[in-house]
Amino acid sequence: MALFDGPIQDLVDELGRLPGVGPKSAQRIAFHLLKVSSPDALRLATAIIEVKERAVLCSICFNVSMTKECSICADPRRDHTKVCVVEDPRDIVAVERTREFSGRYHVLGGALNPIEGVGPEQIRVRELLVRIDAEGITEVILCTNPNLEGDTTAMYLARLLKPMGLSVTRIASGLPVGGDLEYADELTLGRALEGRREVDA
Ligand SMILES: [Zn+2]
Repeated sequence: MALFDGPIQDLVDELGRLPGVGPKSAQRIAFHLLKVSSPDALRLATAIIEVKERAVLCSICFNVSMTKECSICADPRRDHTKVCVVEDPRDIVAVERTREFSGRYHVLGGALNPIEGVGPEQIRVRELLVRIDAEGITEVILCTNPNLEGDTTAMYLARLLKPMGLSVTRIASGLPVGGDLEYADELTLGRALEGRREVDA
């Protein structure tokens, strides 16, 4: 049921579709935007248009980027022999905050979940294998989330990668189980990275 005039209702509806925004919050944000100055509100609109029109996935690691190669892959100081495998670009931010890792990343774009029909073909496993050959990677750190899907994915990748003679490590336990990497504080995640162990596969 539409409570407000067309465009206002549209704004409320669109805001309400954002993750974590309920109907009450959607109304509050919409009325906030109606009240603020045009330049203030238009900055938000412009930021959305900019990222939607220009953001791409990094051609090397599949991080979100505004250039063909993301700033991490383009940085010559990063160690090309180490790759940290994560599920989502947001996890890169979490690992970067710890300042414990100086290699590059690989974004899988999800985790294995047989019940939901997510197999190795649905995440970027093949792309990882291509990179290992092409970039001379010798150490793979599995930083998938500390939950069932993340653990399954780490075990699958370890079984695939260990026979290739690589060092394959998994971040140490101590992270909140069942949680997402992005919610771990940098100290805990830093310790988990430091205490990473070779996976027996
Ligand atoms: Zn990249």
